[in-house]
Amino acid sequence: MKKISIVDLHEQYKKIKKEIDNAIFSVLEDGSFIGSGNNQHVKKFEEGFANYLGIKNCIGCANGTDAIEIALKALGIGPNDEVIVPAISWISTSEAVGNVGATPIFIDVDKDYYTIDVAKIEEKITPKTKAIMVVHLYGLPAEMDSVIKIAKKYKLFIVEDCAQAHGAEYKNKKVGTLGDIATFSFFPSKNLGAYGDAGCVVTGNDILAETCRRIANHGQLKKNEHLMEGRNSRLDGIQAAVLSVKLKYLDEWNNSRIKIAKEYNSLLKNKKLITPKCPSYSKHVYHIYAIQLENRDAVQNQLSKSGIGTSVHYPTPLPLLKPYEKYKYTKNDFPNAYEVTNKILSLPMYPELKKDDITYIASLI
Ligand SMILES: *Cc1c(COP(=O)(O)O)cnc(C)c1O
Repeated sequence: MKKISIVDLHEQYKKIKKEIDNAIFSVLEDGSFIGSGNNQHVKKFEEGFANYLGIKNCIGCANGTDAIEIALKALGIGPNDEVIVPAISWISTSEAVGNVGATPIFIDVDKDYYTIDVAKIEEKITPKTKAIMVVHLYGLPAEMDSVIKIAKKYKLFIVEDCAQAHGAEYKNKKVGTLGDIATFSFFPSKNLGAYGDAGCVVTGNDILAETCRRIANHGQLKKNEHLMEGRNSRLDGIQAAVLSVKLKYLDEWNNSRIKIAKEYNSLLKNKKLITPKCPSYSKHVYHIYAIQLENRDAVQNQLSKSGIGTSVHYPTPLPLLKPYEKYKYTKNDFPNAYEVTNKILSLPMYPELKKDDITYIASLI
């Protein structure tokens, strides 16, 4: 039986094996393993990624969850503060808010785009609100013009969780450059992925950038100059070297993802399912290709029996997860998120996915 998994990292590795192996060996040879001070591999990647996005500062760190926590701390967000977050995301988004001592305030998602419903933000703003954290979910930018307008009106920071959207664009601007500070994850399966855990914070603000750099490395910029208590969350040399190789291919890989999504869209024209929507002014980079259908669980089961790997991103809206039971939310508080999480199904999506495979998957569905 033919088997197609939801992601296949090995296909990509085979294509760039020589470059990757050389990059890793170069770190083994020069011994610059830890991303503190002047690690040339880390510096090179940070500069490369900042240039790619068109932003002044990139600060590598250990993973995308730490990146959010570091960004929130750098903004001075902590106990008694509230941060607005969307009801659908990976838990890191709200977890980081809780981990700095603040309270996540969940907003329902837009039923067409699955990103934060900007029409429902203002009613949740209180004197304690400090920031709006948007998530460019699945690779589609959130509705940023409205977010920027609200943030200006109430003097709130904008944090962009770009973990699923490397290279995505909103009105010709790359995500990560649209707010005060933004975070990326380089988890292996992300659009730009390391071969292990890795992440970064980006910002146009030099003061925020310096604070992030201190937080991520025990409060020091120079060895033993601890101006504050920080933590250990550094990007290591091997991951940085891998990321510099892969960054060169990011646009090409994103374009493949877009092509695959178009292929799926045209093959899955059917009244019984909904394919992803994207506004004309946005560039969706399809970290995840998710369709909506009524009989999701049955279809997922059947696909699994036919050797097709699928997944649900995510089965439960964040506010209905156990850590947030104390807020006593119900599904009626987040009708769109609740409906979407019950109908959404992520299909195989990776840049090397073959046209024959797409046709086969679509025919099974
Ligand atoms: C992957 C992801 C993260 C966290 O990244 P890690 O590197 O796994 O810590 C945060 N937010 C979103 C939306 C993600 O998809």
